Amino acid sequence: MAIVRKKTTQPTVGPAVTMTGPELVAKLKAANLMRLPLNVRGVAEYLGLEVVEEPMDDDMSGFLEIRSGQWVVGVNAFHHLNRKRFTIAHEIAHFLLHSEGQTEFRDRTFARRTNDPSRMEREADQFAAELLMPAEDVRQKIAAGETSLSALAAQFGVSALAMKYRVQKLGYQVNQ
Ligand SMILES: [Zn+2]
Repeated sequence: MAIVRKKTTQPTVGPAVTMTGPELVAKLKAANLMRLPLNVRGVAEYLGLEVVEEPMDDDMSGFLEIRSGQWVVGVNAFHHLNRKRFTIAHEIAHFLLHSEGQTEFRDRTFARRTNDPSRMEREADQFAAELLMPAEDVRQKIAAGETSLSALAAQFGVSALAMKYRVQKLGYQVNQ
């Protein structure tokens, strides 16, 4: 005999506080957790998130979802380390900014998202860039004479393309 249980809706509790990228960076700096390249997986765990790597189709970058009452960040195990780092930062953003009342976020790769008009996706990408490449640190390195995009990208643990977008956003001109 089958036992039929009424399906219960899972509580969807977001973070205790919401934080922007720069606010999280300030908190990490105060806690002496902001060393470059940022241990972004450690930051996710610091915020109470579990991080798992799972095989996914190539156009999927990751997800944020509740499993057994716990928010879990999933990243595509097949992706390059820098992409995994950006994905974790992006999912941290969904957790801190958007998770209240939600149960899951599924994310396609950055390239597929650039034409996506979703405000939440733009916010999460901006947050990820701010977290992995804090404005103050980028400016300091450039002022100290580091002008190579690839060298900067290596120091922050991001792709050269992500670094390029970031320095342009901060008002620097990039020579092609
Ligand atoms: Zn997203």
